[in-house]
Amino acid sequence: MPVNATVDGEREVPEDIDAAETLPVNELFHSLQGEGKLAGVPSTFVRTSGCNLRCWFCDSYHTSWEPTGAWRDLDDVVAAVEERPGDHVVLTGGEPTVHGASVDLLDRLSARGYHTTVETNGTVFRDAAIDLASLSPKLATSTPSPERPPAGGDANIDGWADRHEERRLDYDAMSRYVEAYDTQLKFVVTGPDDLPEVERIVECLRETAGVPIPDGDVLLMPEGTTREELESTRRVVADLALEHGYRYTPRVHVDIWNDAPGT
Ligand code: SF4
Repeated sequence: MPVNATVDGEREVPEDIDAAETLPVNELFHSLQGEGKLAGVPSTFVRTSGCNLRCWFCDSYHTSWEPTGAWRDLDDVVAAVEERPGDHVVLTGGEPTVHGASVDLLDRLSARGYHTTVETNGTVFRDAAIDLASLSPKLATSTPSPERPPAGGDANIDGWADRHEERRLDYDAMSRYVEAYDTQLKFVVTGPDDLPEVERIVECLRETAGVPIPDGDVLLMPEGTTREELESTRRVVADLALEHGYRYTPRVHVDIWNDAPGT
């Protein structure tokens, strides 16, 4: 059954669907983790559909601007994970935390011995079996506008500039993640102009979180979903990481497979 998502990324659940037992899944595949502390680790990815933000550069356009996929019950998702090799699972999106059933899925996977990473924009906290919370706080440069329309299609930004801007940073939710889980803060960076905001966000989070946030948990990732785009940003971002003492993260999957789906 195709996913029918409302514009704000929360599900419009069909009558015959049990929301507690079902997730809208855009794709499920096995690949290498491309980003962050676990870059290079073989992992099974469960990509949910639907997001509460709308970054103009979203690299999973069909989970946010135009969410597509199929409703799959959790037994089916767990079975599909178990059919694939390895013991690392990445729950990603879209924004997986907008779906309550994500908590149950993580608990079930953890009970089976899987290491779980949740890739989230950090705006919705969930108490779940999470081994690595990969927070990706969105910078002001992520906000769509007529000058920065959606990169993956021709969706209308109607109302989303304001909604995105209001929602994109939630220090209470991010602090709870940092306090509860092993965390990485992953910033998509286009150039030096982004660094003052990165530093402001890290500083605010350090003030609100009850635990230290080492520079090594702050990752700068070049913006770009193709090799050509990364070619022009990765050196700049690597230099910024060196200059500020943060960690650089590559996008291994783009380097290897470019923008092929299912990688
Ligand atoms: S938060 Fe992530 S999934 Fe949502 S629009 Fe931004 S990049 Fe896309």
